[in-house]
Amino acid sequence: MPSSTTAPGLWTAEDGARLYGLDRWGDPYFSVGDEGHVQVHPLGTEDRRLDLVALVQELQGRDLSLPLLIRFDDVLEDRLERLHQAFAQAITTYGYGGRYQGVFPVKCNQQRHVVEQLVESGRHWHFGLEAGSKAELLIALSLVADPEALLICNGYKDQRYIETAILARRLGRQPVVVIEQPDELPRIIAASQALGASPFLGIRAKLSSRSTGRWGSSVGEGAKFGLAAPEVLETIEGLRDAGLLGELRLLHFHIGSQITDIAVLKDALQEATRLYVELTRLGAPMGHLDVGGGLAIDYDGSRTATAASKNYSLQNYANDVVATVREGCEAHGVPVPTLVSESGRAIASHFSVLVLNVLGTGRVNEHLRPPGPEEPLIVRNLRDTLGGVQGLAADYHGLVERLQEAWNDALKFKDDALAAFRLGYLTLPDRALAEDLTWACCRAIVELLPAEGLPSELQALRSTLATTYYANLSIFRSAPDTWAIEQLFPVLPIHRLNERPTELGHFADLTCDSDGKLARFIDRGQVKPLLELHTLRPEEPYWIGLFLGGAYQEVMGNLHNLFGSTNAVHIRLKPEGGYQIDHVVRGDTNAEVLQAMEHNPDVLLERLRVASETAINQGRLGISDARRLMSHLETSLRQTTYLDS
Ligand SMILES: *Cc1c(COP(=O)(O)O)cnc(C)c1O
Repeated sequence: MPSSTTAPGLWTAEDGARLYGLDRWGDPYFSVGDEGHVQVHPLGTEDRRLDLVALVQELQGRDLSLPLLIRFDDVLEDRLERLHQAFAQAITTYGYGGRYQGVFPVKCNQQRHVVEQLVESGRHWHFGLEAGSKAELLIALSLVADPEALLICNGYKDQRYIETAILARRLGRQPVVVIEQPDELPRIIAASQALGASPFLGIRAKLSSRSTGRWGSSVGEGAKFGLAAPEVLETIEGLRDAGLLGELRLLHFHIGSQITDIAVLKDALQEATRLYVELTRLGAPMGHLDVGGGLAIDYDGSRTATAASKNYSLQNYANDVVATVREGCEAHGVPVPTLVSESGRAIASHFSVLVLNVLGTGRVNEHLRPPGPEEPLIVRNLRDTLGGVQGLAADYHGLVERLQEAWNDALKFKDDALAAFRLGYLTLPDRALAEDLTWACCRAIVELLPAEGLPSELQALRSTLATTYYANLSIFRSAPDTWAIEQLFPVLPIHRLNERPTELGHFADLTCDSDGKLARFIDRGQVKPLLELHTLRPEEPYWIGLFLGGAYQEVMGNLHNLFGSTNAVHIRLKPEGGYQIDHVVRGDTNAEVLQAMEHNPDVLLERLRVASETAINQGRLGISDARRLMSHLETSLRQTTYLDS
């Protein structure tokens, strides 16, 4: 791919990396090469790297069309490694007398290859799984055969869920049924009596320490899950009466996802450790403290306690868990527990990259017709307004007020034009001219605007003029959290990073939904509505990468407008150099998404075949056109739901 530079010497790949924050959030898995391409470092080291652009080109050569989800299994493994190393380090530093033994929350990414990979890579640490439903428990039971690995059973549990967990213990597995609701206790007692065996038990505490940010309200005292202090006590008594207290092995809490502020975690840890100590005093054997998930990702690289970031490192996190629990236990002479954590986001975010292509761009018209001889008054007014703005000098005294006034005038004249059109006094060409002139005013005003201290109305003008990049993507399928909870992900072109971007734009997706857009971008602790992008070159693709989306996005996406899953590939570095493709997961075909909505593709085709026969008989459609139509329909059913590129 040619990489011409618009201003030679003035813009380098480093500038590109800095502009999109990749030098911060990308570390250590992504960087920018001198040729302006994103480089992937699957092992988190300098020496082994893959050029993402070359990789996409090669994958396309294997008929894997965009949008394409590329999963780097080495990154997944490296995340697991780093998590365990951080805890091992903390345990040494603080002389902690216990172990760390993590689990992966399956809800974070239930894809078979992903869960299998994690179980496989985590085997030597006895890494386990956390299930939040019966289906997830089935996954966990079938994939984890290690008798020492934990299977944490959360979520709503009916009698069958509980009995399954009890019986799985006889298979030599270690399922822990975590009591989250007071009414689960009678079901657990009934199941244990019915089977003459008991499960390993845990209790989920509803802490009063609250997380901040998006998930803050879903935890704390008003949370959906967990037992408040009085309920914990009642449950302990209930277990004691049923002879089950001896099976209580674990205390669990989860204060919400993406904990951005480490201070919040410390509070929760202190409170939970106190509870743990009290539970041992009440006679429960215990042995495990499960600190839940919430370990955050620095999506914007700002290292702050803002929503898309966090103010601590992985090592800080492990240190705080280990040190706080040790301190709390030692103060009361209680042996320290095995530490369990349920990090999902922190393990699974980095390993997948979504690459999509831009289909085209759109912007408001820039070509003005020259003045005609007999222009209507409204049009002349707009020309005068434009002329007035163009005549202003940048150092004009009271510039901002003057520009605001001009913009108000332009908007008023534009409304007048619309009213005149409705009433029949303005022709369509004149109305179009009025709109073009309004945008020309807008552009002239934006060119004069100072960078700061603007009223919000003028500030918003920049976005009005922005370029829309049409993306071969469904936000609702591939990045649902950007829409549902306004989450930010790093988004940037994966090439041309050594070239100064000259446009400001946002993305519109393929769905017919006005929410189907990406118009919020990372900006070092802030959010910006427009992204710096490049102009499209004819006959040259423009590829965009969405990064850090490996957690939750793939599994929460929906079939809005019947756009299905994208193609996905699993890439692994080969020890001797180069890479191999471990798995190819084809995206949903049109036939598959139709079937998901109970339509029958064969019946749909047959109906259209009959309709075209009729049209042929009536002389409305030629035979070769009919064949072409049917061939398009049949091919479409076999293809993915995205556009050919
Ligand atoms: C969602 C969830 C997690 C995972 O949270 P992350 O923020 O992704 O680490 C862990 N435990 C429970 C109980 C959860 O509901």
